[in-house]
Amino acid sequence: MAPVLPSGGSAAHVRVLPTYGDGTVPRGRARRFVRRHARRATHNGWVRTARPAPFRPRPDEHGTPLDVDELRSVTGEWFARTARPLPWRAADRTPWGVLVSEVMSQQTPVARVAPVWVEWMERWPDAAALAAAPTADVLRAWGSLGYPRRALRLQECARVVAEQHGGVVPEDEADLLALPGVGTYTAAAVVAFAFGRRSVVLDTNVRRVLARTVSGVALPAPSPTAAEAALAAAAAPEDDDAAALWAASSMELGAVVCTARAPRCDACPVAGLCAWRLAGYPDDEHASRRRSQGWAGTDRQVRGRVMGALRAADGHVPRARVLDLWPDRAQLDRCVASLVEDGLVEQTDDAYHLPA
Ligand code: SF4
Repeated sequence: MAPVLPSGGSAAHVRVLPTYGDGTVPRGRARRFVRRHARRATHNGWVRTARPAPFRPRPDEHGTPLDVDELRSVTGEWFARTARPLPWRAADRTPWGVLVSEVMSQQTPVARVAPVWVEWMERWPDAAALAAAPTADVLRAWGSLGYPRRALRLQECARVVAEQHGGVVPEDEADLLALPGVGTYTAAAVVAFAFGRRSVVLDTNVRRVLARTVSGVALPAPSPTAAEAALAAAAAPEDDDAAALWAASSMELGAVVCTARAPRCDACPVAGLCAWRLAGYPDDEHASRRRSQGWAGTDRQVRGRVMGALRAADGHVPRARVLDLWPDRAQLDRCVASLVEDGLVEQTDDAYHLPA
Protein backbone atom coordinates (compact mmCIF):
# COMPACT_ATOMS: atom_id res chain seq x y z
CA MET A 1 0.00 0.00 0.00
CA ALA A 2 1.46 3.32 -0.98
CA PRO A 3 0.64 6.24 1.36
CA VAL A 4 -0.21 9.45 -0.38
CA LEU A 5 0.06 12.81 1.29
CA PRO A 6 -1.76 15.49 -0.69
CA SER A 7 0.16 18.65 -1.36
CA GLY A 8 -0.69 21.20 1.28
CA GLY A 9 -2.48 18.61 3.43
CA SER A 10 -1.53 17.14 6.77
CA ALA A 11 -0.88 13.61 7.94
CA ALA A 12 -4.57 13.33 8.77
CA HIS A 13 -5.35 13.60 5.08
CA VAL A 14 -3.26 10.65 3.99
CA ARG A 15 -4.96 8.49 1.39
CA VAL A 16 -3.87 5.05 0.33
CA LEU A 17 -3.36 4.09 -3.28
CA PRO A 18 -5.14 0.82 -4.14
CA THR A 19 -2.67 -1.95 -4.89
CA TYR A 20 -2.65 -5.62 -5.73
CA GLY A 21 -1.77 -8.05 -2.97
CA ASP A 22 1.88 -8.04 -4.00
CA GLY A 23 2.05 -4.29 -3.58
CA THR A 24 2.06 -3.36 -7.27
CA VAL A 25 -0.28 -0.66 -8.51
CA PRO A 26 -2.87 -1.64 -11.11
CA ARG A 27 -1.91 -0.08 -14.43
CA GLY A 28 -3.95 3.03 -15.11
CA ARG A 29 -5.46 3.04 -11.66
CA ALA A 30 -2.96 5.41 -10.19
CA ARG A 31 -4.06 8.19 -12.51
CA ARG A 32 -7.77 7.58 -11.84
CA PHE A 33 -7.07 7.51 -8.12
CA VAL A 34 -5.22 10.80 -8.29
CA ARG A 35 -7.98 12.44 -10.33
CA ARG A 36 -10.73 11.18 -8.02
CA HIS A 37 -9.00 12.15 -4.81
CA ALA A 38 -7.70 15.44 -6.10
CA ARG A 39 -11.26 16.38 -7.09
CA ARG A 40 -12.66 15.22 -3.76
CA ALA A 41 -9.86 16.97 -1.93
CA THR A 42 -10.76 20.24 -3.60
CA HIS A 43 -14.38 19.77 -2.52
CA ASN A 44 -13.30 19.03 1.02
CA GLY A 45 -11.10 22.06 1.03
CA TRP A 46 -7.92 20.31 2.15
CA VAL A 47 -6.10 20.62 -1.13
CA ARG A 48 -6.03 23.69 -3.28
CA THR A 49 -4.75 22.06 -6.40
CA ALA A 50 -6.22 19.32 -8.58
CA ARG A 51 -2.78 18.36 -9.97
CA PRO A 52 -1.61 14.83 -9.20
CA ALA A 53 1.39 16.26 -7.41
CA PRO A 54 1.49 13.89 -4.41
CA PHE A 55 2.71 11.00 -6.53
CA ARG A 56 5.56 12.78 -8.13
CA PRO A 57 8.56 14.29 -6.43
CA ARG A 58 8.56 17.63 -8.21
CA PRO A 59 11.68 19.73 -8.47
CA ASP A 60 11.66 22.94 -6.48
CA GLU A 61 13.01 26.17 -7.93
CA HIS A 62 16.57 24.78 -7.65
CA GLY A 63 15.69 21.57 -9.44
CA THR A 64 15.90 19.51 -6.27
CA PRO A 65 13.22 16.84 -5.90
CA LEU A 66 11.11 17.65 -2.89
CA ASP A 67 11.27 14.23 -1.27
CA VAL A 68 14.77 13.25 -2.36
CA ASP A 69 15.80 12.96 1.29
CA GLU A 70 13.47 10.02 1.75
CA LEU A 71 14.54 8.46 -1.52
CA ARG A 72 18.17 8.65 -0.43
CA SER A 73 17.56 7.43 3.07
CA VAL A 74 15.41 4.43 2.07
CA THR A 75 17.85 3.46 -0.68
CA GLY A 76 20.80 3.79 1.70
CA GLU A 77 19.17 1.60 4.34
CA TRP A 78 18.34 -1.02 1.76
CA PHE A 79 21.92 -0.96 0.46
CA ALA A 80 23.31 -1.38 3.97
CA ARG A 81 21.23 -4.55 4.33
CA THR A 82 21.62 -6.08 0.89
CA ALA A 83 24.73 -4.81 -0.91
CA ARG A 84 26.48 -7.50 -2.91
CA PRO A 85 29.86 -8.45 -1.43
CA LEU A 86 31.83 -7.49 -4.51
CA PRO A 87 35.59 -7.93 -4.06
CA TRP A 88 36.37 -4.26 -4.76
CA ARG A 89 34.02 -3.29 -1.93
CA ALA A 90 36.07 -5.15 0.70
CA ALA A 91 37.41 -3.13 3.61
CA ASP A 92 40.98 -3.59 2.41
CA ARG A 93 40.29 -2.28 -1.09
CA THR A 94 42.75 0.17 -2.55
CA PRO A 95 42.05 3.21 -4.72
CA TRP A 96 43.92 1.49 -7.55
CA GLY A 97 41.73 -1.61 -7.16
CA VAL A 98 38.60 0.54 -7.27
CA LEU A 99 39.83 2.28 -10.41
CA VAL A 100 40.54 -1.07 -12.09
CA SER A 101 37.08 -2.35 -11.14
CA GLU A 102 35.41 0.72 -12.60
CA VAL A 103 37.27 0.44 -15.90
CA MET A 104 36.45 -3.27 -16.15
CA SER A 105 32.78 -2.77 -15.25
CA GLN A 106 32.08 0.01 -17.71
CA GLN A 107 30.68 -2.26 -20.40
CA THR A 108 30.80 -5.68 -18.75
CA PRO A 109 28.48 -7.22 -16.11
CA VAL A 110 30.06 -7.43 -12.66
CA ALA A 111 29.51 -11.19 -12.49
CA ARG A 112 32.01 -11.57 -15.33
CA VAL A 113 34.30 -8.89 -14.01
CA ALA A 114 34.70 -10.20 -10.44
CA PRO A 115 36.84 -13.32 -11.09
CA VAL A 116 39.01 -11.48 -13.60
CA TRP A 117 39.48 -8.59 -11.19
CA VAL A 118 40.55 -10.93 -8.36
CA GLU A 119 43.21 -12.65 -10.50
CA TRP A 120 44.30 -9.33 -11.97
CA MET A 121 44.81 -7.71 -8.58
CA GLU A 122 46.74 -10.73 -7.26
CA ARG A 123 49.06 -10.46 -10.22
CA TRP A 124 49.32 -6.67 -10.46
CA PRO A 125 48.25 -5.23 -7.11
CA ASP A 126 49.21 -1.65 -7.89
CA ALA A 127 49.78 0.76 -10.73
CA ALA A 128 53.56 0.23 -10.82
CA ALA A 129 53.14 -3.54 -11.23
CA LEU A 130 50.70 -3.15 -14.12
CA ALA A 131 52.85 -0.47 -15.73
CA ALA A 132 55.80 -2.87 -15.86
CA ALA A 133 53.84 -5.85 -17.20
CA PRO A 134 54.23 -7.09 -20.80
CA THR A 135 51.26 -5.79 -22.77
CA ALA A 136 50.62 -9.24 -24.23
CA ASP A 137 50.14 -10.58 -20.68
CA VAL A 138 47.78 -7.72 -19.87
CA LEU A 139 45.64 -8.48 -22.92
CA ARG A 140 45.62 -12.20 -22.09
CA ALA A 141 44.56 -11.47 -18.52
CA TRP A 142 41.79 -9.22 -19.79
CA GLY A 143 40.36 -12.40 -21.29
CA SER A 144 36.87 -12.12 -22.67
CA LEU A 145 35.77 -9.00 -20.80
CA GLY A 146 35.31 -7.37 -24.19
CA TYR A 147 36.34 -3.99 -25.55
CA PRO A 148 40.04 -4.80 -24.99
CA ARG A 149 41.14 -1.26 -25.79
CA ARG A 150 40.18 -0.65 -22.16
CA ALA A 151 43.06 -2.93 -21.13
CA LEU A 152 45.53 -0.90 -23.16
CA ARG A 153 44.20 2.34 -21.72
CA LEU A 154 44.33 0.91 -18.21
CA GLN A 155 47.99 0.07 -18.65
CA GLU A 156 48.65 3.57 -20.00
CA CYS A 157 46.84 4.91 -16.95
CA ALA A 158 49.02 2.73 -14.70
CA ARG A 159 52.15 4.16 -16.31
CA VAL A 160 51.00 7.75 -15.74
CA VAL A 161 50.04 6.99 -12.12
CA ALA A 162 53.40 5.30 -11.56
CA GLU A 163 55.51 7.94 -13.28
CA GLN A 164 53.68 11.17 -12.50
CA HIS A 165 51.90 10.46 -9.22
CA GLY A 166 54.44 8.29 -7.45
CA GLY A 167 52.25 5.23 -7.88
CA VAL A 168 49.41 6.78 -5.89
CA VAL A 169 45.98 7.30 -7.43
CA PRO A 170 45.20 11.02 -7.20
CA GLU A 171 42.22 12.05 -5.06
CA ASP A 172 41.37 15.16 -6.99
CA GLU A 173 38.67 14.66 -9.62
CA ALA A 174 40.42 16.91 -12.14
CA ASP A 175 43.67 14.94 -11.76
CA LEU A 176 41.75 11.70 -12.22
CA LEU A 177 40.12 13.05 -15.37
CA ALA A 178 43.55 13.73 -16.82
CA LEU A 179 44.50 10.03 -16.62
CA PRO A 180 44.30 7.92 -19.81
CA GLY A 181 41.02 6.05 -20.09
CA VAL A 182 39.40 7.87 -17.17
CA GLY A 183 36.24 9.74 -18.14
CA THR A 184 33.69 11.71 -16.17
CA TYR A 185 31.94 8.67 -14.77
CA THR A 186 35.10 6.80 -13.75
CA ALA A 187 36.63 9.84 -12.08
CA ALA A 188 33.46 10.48 -10.08
CA ALA A 189 33.18 6.81 -9.12
CA VAL A 190 36.77 6.68 -7.86
CA VAL A 191 36.25 9.85 -5.81
CA ALA A 192 33.14 8.34 -4.20
CA PHE A 193 34.05 4.66 -3.84
CA ALA A 194 37.79 4.86 -3.24
CA PHE A 195 38.00 8.08 -1.22
CA GLY A 196 34.49 8.36 0.21
CA ARG A 197 34.11 11.91 -1.02
CA ARG A 198 31.23 13.73 -2.66
CA SER A 199 30.95 13.44 -6.42
CA VAL A 200 28.12 13.14 -8.90
CA VAL A 201 28.16 9.54 -10.11
CA LEU A 202 25.90 9.17 -13.11
CA ASP A 203 26.06 5.85 -14.92
CA THR A 204 23.28 4.08 -16.81
CA ASN A 205 21.92 2.56 -13.59
CA VAL A 206 21.69 5.86 -11.75
CA ARG A 207 20.20 7.55 -14.81
CA ARG A 208 17.46 4.91 -14.94
CA VAL A 209 16.71 5.10 -11.22
CA LEU A 210 16.42 8.89 -11.30
CA ALA A 211 14.35 8.80 -14.48
CA ARG A 212 11.85 6.42 -12.94
CA THR A 213 11.71 7.49 -9.32
CA VAL A 214 11.95 11.25 -9.79
CA SER A 215 11.00 12.08 -13.38
CA GLY A 216 8.32 9.42 -13.72
CA VAL A 217 9.46 8.13 -17.12
CA ALA A 218 10.24 4.60 -18.24
CA LEU A 219 13.83 5.27 -19.28
CA PRO A 220 16.12 8.26 -19.67
CA ALA A 221 16.81 9.75 -23.10
CA PRO A 222 19.17 7.69 -25.28
CA SER A 223 21.96 10.19 -24.62
CA PRO A 224 22.60 11.95 -21.31
CA THR A 225 21.12 15.43 -21.09
CA ALA A 226 22.10 18.57 -19.19
CA ALA A 227 18.85 18.31 -17.23
CA GLU A 228 19.79 14.83 -16.03
CA ALA A 229 23.21 16.01 -14.94
CA ALA A 230 21.59 18.88 -13.03
CA LEU A 231 19.12 16.52 -11.38
CA ALA A 232 21.89 14.10 -10.43
CA ALA A 233 23.92 16.96 -8.95
CA ALA A 234 20.92 18.14 -6.98
CA ALA A 235 20.22 14.59 -5.75
CA ALA A 236 23.76 14.09 -4.42
CA PRO A 237 23.96 15.11 -0.75
CA GLU A 238 26.50 17.71 0.27
CA ASP A 239 28.01 15.54 2.99
CA ASP A 240 30.85 13.31 1.77
CA ASP A 241 29.74 10.07 3.46
CA ALA A 242 26.10 10.55 2.52
CA ALA A 243 27.02 11.38 -1.09
CA ALA A 244 29.23 8.28 -1.40
CA LEU A 245 26.44 6.13 0.06
CA TRP A 246 23.88 7.61 -2.31
CA ALA A 247 26.20 6.96 -5.28
CA ALA A 248 26.73 3.32 -4.30
CA SER A 249 23.14 2.60 -3.31
CA SER A 250 21.46 4.22 -6.31
CA MET A 251 23.82 2.35 -8.66
CA GLU A 252 23.11 -0.91 -6.84
CA LEU A 253 19.37 -0.34 -7.03
CA GLY A 254 19.57 0.14 -10.78
CA ALA A 255 21.84 -2.87 -11.21
CA VAL A 256 19.90 -5.47 -9.24
CA VAL A 257 16.29 -4.25 -8.81
CA CYS A 258 15.39 -1.43 -11.16
CA THR A 259 16.80 -3.10 -14.24
CA ALA A 260 16.14 -1.80 -17.74
CA ARG A 261 13.99 -4.62 -19.06
CA ALA A 262 12.45 -6.24 -15.99
CA PRO A 263 12.32 -3.98 -12.94
CA ARG A 264 11.46 -5.95 -9.79
CA CYS A 265 9.02 -3.46 -8.34
CA ASP A 266 7.64 -6.02 -5.90
CA ALA A 267 11.09 -6.19 -4.26
CA CYS A 268 11.93 -2.51 -4.58
CA PRO A 269 12.58 -0.51 -1.41
CA VAL A 270 11.43 2.75 -3.01
CA ALA A 271 8.32 1.42 -4.73
CA GLY A 272 6.16 3.73 -2.64
CA LEU A 273 8.11 6.75 -3.88
CA CYS A 274 8.58 5.80 -7.51
CA ALA A 275 6.90 8.31 -9.80
CA TRP A 276 6.91 6.00 -12.82
CA ARG A 277 5.23 3.17 -10.94
CA LEU A 278 2.73 5.43 -9.28
CA ALA A 279 1.83 7.02 -12.62
CA GLY A 280 0.88 3.59 -13.97
CA TYR A 281 4.08 2.85 -15.93
CA PRO A 282 3.66 5.15 -18.92
CA ASP A 283 5.39 3.95 -22.08
CA ASP A 284 8.96 4.82 -23.04
CA GLU A 285 8.67 8.01 -25.06
CA HIS A 286 12.10 7.42 -26.64
CA ALA A 287 11.45 3.82 -27.67
CA SER A 288 11.70 4.52 -31.40
CA ARG A 289 15.14 6.12 -30.97
CA ARG A 290 16.74 3.24 -29.13
CA ARG A 291 19.00 0.87 -31.01
CA SER A 292 19.37 -2.66 -29.81
CA GLN A 293 22.92 -3.80 -30.27
CA GLY A 294 23.24 -7.39 -31.45
CA TRP A 295 26.37 -9.48 -31.35
CA ALA A 296 26.16 -12.27 -33.92
CA GLY A 297 27.79 -11.32 -37.18
CA THR A 298 29.05 -7.94 -35.99
CA ASP A 299 32.57 -6.60 -36.26
CA ARG A 300 32.73 -6.92 -32.48
CA GLN A 301 32.26 -10.66 -32.79
CA VAL A 302 34.93 -10.91 -35.49
CA ARG A 303 37.40 -8.81 -33.51
CA GLY A 304 36.69 -10.93 -30.45
CA ARG A 305 37.39 -14.10 -32.37
CA VAL A 306 40.71 -12.81 -33.68
CA MET A 307 41.75 -11.57 -30.24
CA GLY A 308 40.76 -14.93 -28.75
CA ALA A 309 43.01 -16.78 -31.18
CA LEU A 310 45.94 -14.48 -30.49
CA ARG A 311 45.46 -14.66 -26.72
CA ALA A 312 45.44 -18.46 -26.87
CA ALA A 313 48.67 -18.62 -28.86
CA ASP A 314 52.13 -18.52 -27.31
CA GLY A 315 53.52 -16.25 -29.96
CA HIS A 316 52.82 -15.50 -33.60
CA VAL A 317 49.72 -16.78 -35.38
CA PRO A 318 50.19 -17.45 -39.10
CA ARG A 319 48.01 -15.31 -41.35
CA ALA A 320 46.57 -18.45 -42.94
CA ARG A 321 45.16 -19.48 -39.56
CA VAL A 322 43.66 -16.07 -38.97
CA LEU A 323 41.99 -16.20 -42.38
CA ASP A 324 40.19 -19.37 -41.27
CA LEU A 325 38.55 -17.59 -38.35
CA TRP A 326 35.72 -15.95 -40.28
CA PRO A 327 34.07 -16.73 -43.61
CA ASP A 328 33.53 -13.16 -44.79
CA ARG A 329 37.01 -12.20 -45.98
CA ALA A 330 36.27 -8.50 -46.45
CA GLN A 331 34.84 -8.19 -42.95
CA LEU A 332 37.74 -10.15 -41.48
CA ASP A 333 40.32 -7.96 -43.22
CA ARG A 334 38.55 -4.85 -41.99
CA CYS A 335 38.46 -6.10 -38.42
CA VAL A 336 42.10 -7.22 -38.38
CA ALA A 337 43.13 -3.84 -39.79
CA SER A 338 41.15 -2.06 -37.05
CA LEU A 339 42.81 -4.21 -34.36
CA VAL A 340 46.23 -3.30 -35.74
CA GLU A 341 45.26 0.36 -35.84
CA ASP A 342 44.04 0.21 -32.24
CA GLY A 343 47.39 -1.19 -31.11
CA LEU A 344 45.84 -4.48 -29.99
CA VAL A 345 47.54 -6.58 -32.68
CA GLU A 346 50.88 -6.36 -34.42
CA GLN A 347 51.61 -7.71 -37.86
CA THR A 348 54.68 -9.23 -39.47
CA ASP A 349 54.93 -10.35 -43.08
CA ASP A 350 52.81 -13.44 -42.72
CA ALA A 351 51.67 -13.54 -39.10
CA TYR A 352 49.98 -11.63 -36.29
CA HIS A 353 50.77 -11.39 -32.60
CA LEU A 354 49.85 -9.47 -29.46
CA PRO A 355 51.98 -6.42 -28.65
CA ALA A 356 55.01 -7.22 -26.51
S1 SF4 B 1 12.03 -1.19 -9.42
FE1 SF4 B 1 10.00 -0.43 -9.99
S2 SF4 B 1 9.28 0.71 -8.21
FE2 SF4 B 1 11.49 0.47 -7.96
S3 SF4 B 1 12.40 2.32 -8.82
FE3 SF4 B 1 12.34 0.78 -10.44
S4 SF4 B 1 10.41 1.10 -11.55
FE4 SF4 B 1 10.28 2.18 -9.58
